[in-house]
Amino acid sequence: MTFTTKMEFKEAVREYCIQEGRRIWFKKNDNVRMRAVCKDENCGWLVYAANNTENNYWQIKTFNDDHTCARKTKNKLANRKWLARKLVKKLRKYPNLRHCEAAQYFKTKCDLELSMCSLTRALGDARAVVYGDAAAQYGMIRDYGLTLLRSNPGSTVTVGVIPQPNPDDKPIFEKMYICLDACKKGFLAGCRPLIGLDGAFLKT
Ligand SMILES: [Zn+2]
Repeated sequence: MTFTTKMEFKEAVREYCIQEGRRIWFKKNDNVRMRAVCKDENCGWLVYAANNTENNYWQIKTFNDDHTCARKTKNKLANRKWLARKLVKKLRKYPNLRHCEAAQYFKTKCDLELSMCSLTRALGDARAVVYGDAAAQYGMIRDYGLTLLRSNPGSTVTVGVIPQPNPDDKPIFEKMYICLDACKKGFLAGCRPLIGLDGAFLKT
């Protein structure tokens, strides 16, 4: 099995060991080789990969996948960065993901028992990534409008924002109206002229 970079190999080992519920550490870690062993000294699990100088790939040379140690529900391999990365995917799908649901997700998926503190930190990081992304996308709305007008001349694009009391603060997006030129023309071409009158009682 080969990996493009050392980091790719390391993350694959991390993912695998978290799923397996085993604690390991990287005993050897330099630019040409990497060896991971089980934290339990009596356990013979190990994986060894080396850099192939011909194609620069990282290749697994030795893999003893037999743990004689017991499965653990706490694992330092599932660090803040790893947890946040998983939660980003989850949050994009379920934006209102709650603390207890995140805990349940890791318990069911990887049999991990996490402290409240590490979950809170990771959830905070993940929210910053997801909502940060959303803010950046709202920031591109005017560019999107201009692109629409350039590619569909004659269209109407209007963006409404809520101004902020402090002029240095960026306005908040409120609404957007788009009417493409082709839709306008299609609507007009397909319509019959019609005059409608509405009755109203007027006091005389
Ligand atoms: Zn082991």
